[in-house]
Amino acid sequence: LRKEVERAEKMYLVGELAASFAHEIRNPLTVVSGFLQLMGKNQIAEEAKHDYLRMMITELERAQAIISDYLAIAKPKSDSIQLIQVEPLLRQIIELMSPYAHMNTVSIASSIEQGLQLKADASRLSQSLINIVKNGIEAMPDGGNLEIKAYRQQRKLLIEISDQGIGMTQAEIDRLGTPFYTTKEKGTGIGTMVALGIIGSMGGRTEVHSEKGAGTTFTIILPIRRGEARE
Ligand code: ADP
Ligand code: MG
Repeated sequence: LRKEVERAEKMYLVGELAASFAHEIRNPLTVVSGFLQLMGKNQIAEEAKHDYLRMMITELERAQAIISDYLAIAKPKSDSIQLIQVEPLLRQIIELMSPYAHMNTVSIASSIEQGLQLKADASRLSQSLINIVKNGIEAMPDGGNLEIKAYRQQRKLLIEISDQGIGMTQAEIDRLGTPFYTTKEKGTGIGTMVALGIIGSMGGRTEVHSEKGAGTTFTIILPIRRGEARE
């Protein structure tokens, strides 16, 4: 029965999500088709035409971003649970994100305990960490340091991702994970929802500490099951 309830809840969520995705994608399409009709009917000054084109491209790019983030969620849950070596996985993520960090004059520092192991789906775990790291970088428009720490505490693996960025109020923290909640011009508001969802599905949880104007720390707490860790 519990399985059934879980499945029903999941289906409900998927339905809700699909409805809001349709809505989010319909908006840009409506804007674009409105401009195209306008441009087809009237004589339009060259300058206005440029503005229209720019706005249409922006809207289409937003629809594109929403679709690609959606595909990341909708991808069937791959069952590739393996024993992951945490340190190399985190190093790989840092390497992957370093061009983006560099573009934003952000440097990434890390302090990762050696020998940490965890049974999980590496690509899903990476995806959730990448989303959080990306937000940390984007929270520092004038550059700064992003710090990644990983360590073990009893039967728990903790991964901390800290930035020195714009920070959030408690009300903003409370909205994290809500589909399409974004404060960014080009945001989709999907990254955090995906990240928190993946961590939750791994039996873990995420704590967020933030101070407006000072920075944010995401602490991901994952259970280490018996026999997983190197003693
Ligand atoms: P997006 O990054 O596309 O806006 P996310 O779901 O990744 O969508 O994040 C939602 C919102 O949460 C962001 O727009 C931002 O307001 C807030 N947020 C997430 N991480 C941070 C952070 N490290 N510092 C400040 N705000 C953050
Ligand atoms: Mg994001």
